[in-house]
Amino acid sequence: MLFFFTIILLSIAIGLAYLFAGKVMVPLKKSYHQQVEFTTNASHELRTPLSVIHSSVELLEECKEALPEFEQHVLDGLKDEVTRMIRLVESLLTLARSDSKQWNFKLEAVDLGQISYETYQAMLPLALKKGVDIQIDPPTIDANTSVIQGNTDQLRQLIYILLDNAIKYTPPGGKVTIKYRVDTHSRTTLQVTDTGIGIPKDELSRIFERFYRVDKARSREFGGAGLGLSIAADILRSHQAFIHVTSEEGKGSVFEIAFEA
Ligand code: ADP
Repeated sequence: MLFFFTIILLSIAIGLAYLFAGKVMVPLKKSYHQQVEFTTNASHELRTPLSVIHSSVELLEECKEALPEFEQHVLDGLKDEVTRMIRLVESLLTLARSDSKQWNFKLEAVDLGQISYETYQAMLPLALKKGVDIQIDPPTIDANTSVIQGNTDQLRQLIYILLDNAIKYTPPGGKVTIKYRVDTHSRTTLQVTDTGIGIPKDELSRIFERFYRVDKARSREFGGAGLGLSIAADILRSHQAFIHVTSEEGKGSVFEIAFEA
């Protein structure tokens, strides 16, 4: 009798647990999807007016010389802010796509050395403008030596984020190096090193969080929103790659990524 009573009680408990879990899970899941959908829609809606403002600012720039000095400064400020907002909206869209698993993720053979070299060349003017020395190692591409399975666009974006940060957080006169290697176990590594401001030890575990910036005032000054490394983390996850960061305040940082064969 006691046995049957226990069984009935247990069944009721399990049933209630399922019911309750279902009730809680469905709205949570729904609100998560709604949140992702909202971010996607809002970013899409913001894209068009921002592009219009950007084009108008570019048009005004053509006759900038004719403007009084004060208006020229206003125009420069406007251009910087619009560019920053466009970048922010693009980052939000990328993250929303990743969250909703809508990333068009096609795996293909990608030459990591080749895209490292292309991204390095694309970043050269930015580094030169800031007075930061930028080097790639090896300095010439040895085609097809570092081919991995991945997605070209995402990997390009990943390298761009790391190089952009390295240049951004390195004062003029400093150095940034991008290095790629294939080791004996067919593991390909990519390393971005800088001699910049560094990251405090207790903040290292948080830099991949969304909107996380070590020094908010300073990051804002550099134009960062705290989204670059969270996009990098999503790209790494989709490539089943690992990242290791070492850093020393005032000395610089090393971001090392390993892609398993
Ligand atoms: P942000 O767009 O603000 O640079 P990220 O997500 O790319 O955002 O980086 C998060 C934070 O990590 C940055 O705000 C910055 O404080 C720190 N950080 C990232 N890379 C570096 C680096 N190479 N040197 C120093 N600090 C860095």
